[in-house]
Parts: sequence; C-alpha cells; structure tokens
Amino acid sequence: MIAVGVDIGGTKVLAVRLDGAETVAQTRFVVEGSTGTIDAIIQSVESVHADEVQAIGVGVAGLVNPKDGTLVWGPHVQGTGLAIRTAVFDRFKVPVHVDNDANTAAIAELRVGGARGYQNVLFVTLGTGIGGAVIIDGAVYRGGGFAGEWGHVQIDRDGLLCDCGKRGCWETRASGPALVRLARQVVTSNTDSSLARILGAESITGESVVAAADGGDETARALVTEVGRSFGQGLAGLVAIFDPELIVVGGGLGSIGESIVGPARRVLTDSLHGGKLRVPPAVQVATLGPAAGAVGAALIAAEEAG
Ligand SMILES: [Zn+2]
Repeated sequence: MIAVGVDIGGTKVLAVRLDGAETVAQTRFVVEGSTGTIDAIIQSVESVHADEVQAIGVGVAGLVNPKDGTLVWGPHVQGTGLAIRTAVFDRFKVPVHVDNDANTAAIAELRVGGARGYQNVLFVTLGTGIGGAVIIDGAVYRGGGFAGEWGHVQIDRDGLLCDCGKRGCWETRASGPALVRLARQVVTSNTDSSLARILGAESITGESVVAAADGGDETARALVTEVGRSFGQGLAGLVAIFDPELIVVGGGLGSIGESIVGPARRVLTDSLHGGKLRVPPAVQVATLGPAAGAVGAALIAAEEAG
C-alpha cells in the first residue's frame, strides 16, 4: 500500500509518502499567507509524487469532524467549515481520511513508535498549549469528535486569562508561553540576575529557558521545574479519569525531555490516590519527532483503505 500523509499547522505543512510502514519520501515547507489551507494540502501531496498513491491521510491542527472530513475550526489554520476530504478526493480520486493531528501522531507512536504493544495510552502534546489524544483498546477515542483538548480544563477559576477566553486553563500554567512569562517576570524584575544575563535582550523562548536550566542556572531550573510540576498536576487528573498504561509526551516543549517530564512524573506519582499500593503509568517522551502527525495520517488512511 502506497499512502501519503500530510500534517498541516498554521505555518508549516509536512508530507510523507509511505510504502507499507516505511517512509520513502518526505517534504516540508512553509505555508504562504496567500495559499489557502486546501491548496496547501493538495500541493504537499503532489510534492511527494501523488502518482500510484492508494490512500491519503490529512492531520490538521484544529477541531476536525472525522466523519465528514471537515475542519470545523483551527486556532492557527486558515478557514472554517472546510470540506477537506471532499476537495482532496476530487483531486486525487483515492480514499481520504482527515483527522486532528494529535490523533494521527498518537497512532504513529502506537503503530511504529514508543507506544507499540500498548493498548491504553494518553498522548499529550506540550508546546504552545496542551492537546492530545486518547487511545483506548488500541483505537483512538474521539468522543463526539473533539476529545483530548484537555489544555482547556480549568484548574484555577481565578487564574490567568487563556487564549480561549476562559481563565485558569491548565495550559496557562504549563506551556511554552507559561514558561516564557515566568522567565520574563524574573528578567524584568531583576535585571542583574544570572538569568537576565544568560537570556539577554533576545526574545525569550521556552527552549532558551530550558537550555539555561540545563546549563546549570538555578533560577531557570526552578522555573522549568514549576512548569513541569503544573504539567504533572494536570496529568494526575487525566490518570484519575483514564488510568492509562502509558503516557507519551510530545510537542515542542514536551519533546525536550527530562527537564520538564521529570518534575511532572514526580508530581504525578505523589498525586495518585492509593499511594504506594499502585504503580503509576510510565511517562515517556515521543519517539518519532515532528513527522509523527504526517506518518500517522498516512497509516490511518492506509488501514481504512485496507
Ligand atoms: Zn483555555
């Protein structure tokens, strides 16, 4: 089976061509402002040689209705109510599956990544916000369509304003922007601090704060630990609901690894009711990197096309 998978976000689109489970071609390019979402998807399929393709999967960073293959809304993707499956099918005349990109990345981890062999897995992305996917009995659980948008679970009713318009969502405390906000407070309130000297006048990113922490700066390490602990607090809530065998952490900040995941794991372990009488689920970093969403989209499309 030759299948193409596409992962489209707000600024980048990544396409892979799979022969079975093996990636035989991959392209990645920036979405130009004037290019519509559907045109960008079609161009990316063509960029990995659409001839002989038997199935196409599309992962989109947004709310997707997988039944009819429409993008309902995405925070950074152009267009609402986009009939992606219809448009891609009309162009290539092969079966098309459209899904949320966290769902497709989770399937990639399950089929060919670090979650192989597990049946009940939470895939949690930690980056600009928190999203993810639920795997139950080896299949994606979608609920009414949008399950896994747990970054917007409210953990502090009077907390900070979230991008979604509510206050105190989990991702206001645990995300790249949350870490940047904490670092900026230190840097502006104490311009003589070691962290201010390390981060300098450059724009601060979550990655630069983690790098300062890993380089031995105690203040940066405390901030990263605080964000990691807030991440772990939310994970404990998810474990209380789902009791997964495994949690896979992906996303730009989550993929950095132990600096963030270590403190999260400790809070999770301390928070489980039943204490030492139960074993907490393993928490591990995603293994497939940025291509996971596209690979998973191709794998789901190939499975559905049979
Ligand atoms: Zn929110």
